[in-house]
Amino acid sequence: MRRISVFVLFLVITHGGIRAQDRDSALIARLATEILVNGKAYENLRDLTKKIGARLSGSPQMALSEKWGVGVFTSSGADKVWMQECMVPHWVRGGKDMATAYNDKTGKDGKPLAILALGNSIGTGAGGIEAEVLEVTNFDALESKKDQVKGKIVFFSYRFKTSFANPSDAYRDAVVYRASGASRAAKYGAKAVIVRSMTHAPDNLPHTGALRYDTAYPRIPAVAIGLQDADWMSNQLKTAAMRVKLRTGGHFLPDTTGHNVIGELTGSEFPDHFITVGGHLDSWDPAVGAHDDGAGIVQTIEILRALKAIGYKPRNTIRFVLFANEENGLRGGEKYAAEAKRKFEKHLFALESDAGGFTPRGFSLDVSDLQFEKVQPWRKLFQPYGGDTFTRGGSGADVDPLKEAFAIPAAGLYPDPQRYFDVHHAASDVFEAVNKRELEMGAVNMAILIYLVDKYGL
Ligand SMILES: [Zn+2]
Repeated sequence: MRRISVFVLFLVITHGGIRAQDRDSALIARLATEILVNGKAYENLRDLTKKIGARLSGSPQMALSEKWGVGVFTSSGADKVWMQECMVPHWVRGGKDMATAYNDKTGKDGKPLAILALGNSIGTGAGGIEAEVLEVTNFDALESKKDQVKGKIVFFSYRFKTSFANPSDAYRDAVVYRASGASRAAKYGAKAVIVRSMTHAPDNLPHTGALRYDTAYPRIPAVAIGLQDADWMSNQLKTAAMRVKLRTGGHFLPDTTGHNVIGELTGSEFPDHFITVGGHLDSWDPAVGAHDDGAGIVQTIEILRALKAIGYKPRNTIRFVLFANEENGLRGGEKYAAEAKRKFEKHLFALESDAGGFTPRGFSLDVSDLQFEKVQPWRKLFQPYGGDTFTRGGSGADVDPLKEAFAIPAAGLYPDPQRYFDVHHAASDVFEAVNKRELEMGAVNMAILIYLVDKYGL
């Protein structure tokens, strides 16, 4: 008797489990169909990138994109839309960056170099800087040549390693030269630095990105150089000295007011429990930030639109956040977390899309062992949509302060990484580089995760 009742109970549980999965599959199919058939993400990305363009913090386009965000959230059916004020740094490029190489062997005619000042870099002044170039392949080489650095332009030719299967690992490996190279060289009296771009794209486009000055040393100008010109310089320097003339105009204006733009679907059961999903609205200026992070922005908005369109009533309040100032300050992410903390809000989970609008492979999950176990059965629900690779790892820069402040689980969309660093922070990050279906599939997979966390928690 007892055995039979256990068996019956087992049947009821498993059957109930299957029915729940079927119901989830059905709702997910409606959500996916809504995004794939009636999706607005691609057209929203066209508007954001073509009508507004690059959106660096403090620029007029920053303000335009915030206004745009409010409008699109409203027309997408948000229950509530608002702007959360935060002060942002205001760095400007200050004109066209220029560099010319003069090689003893090639004579007096200089060769123009494809360069772009690094974000937050100071400029050279109107007269420019001209100095001999000292190439170092890495920081060890800098240390061993430190006596030769004074008065030179240090050329960091550290390579973006092709041996990493995931280019994000190559980026993490190399980016320290962009972030800290200037101060490391300034320590020994360098006048400026040229950094090999963080990419292995076959073109010659320089890739910008933020640097951080160490206040212990003088601030010196820093530029990124395209790979073809970097290779050319390395080759020339094997046999002859080279001088480079640099002219850049980067400088800071006083901090200015920016905003996180927030749209909300209010929870039906727990309106004061929050799930956050977002990307960053700012972008570097060589192009229009279509992959970085226009894609994450329009995917975030699309999830709100699709949930509303299929009539889904979330149990918890879902906040869709277009974060300010990820690229050169992270002030938006920090402000969002600080406000949440100040108001003693209850946060459950945060998801970010900031790795490009490419075919989704899955998610990078910053969660506990137990939570990682809990999400494993969900993978089946992602399989038809391609996002079923779950790995342990970081989530996203903008949601990181929230994750830290509340010790909550967080995740980042993990799109195929192979082409991201071809366009990252370069003139090639344009609308045309984004594929409509790949962009939409990213939104589909993010929407599924938001739905499952809302329904079952983590
Ligand atoms: Zn980004």
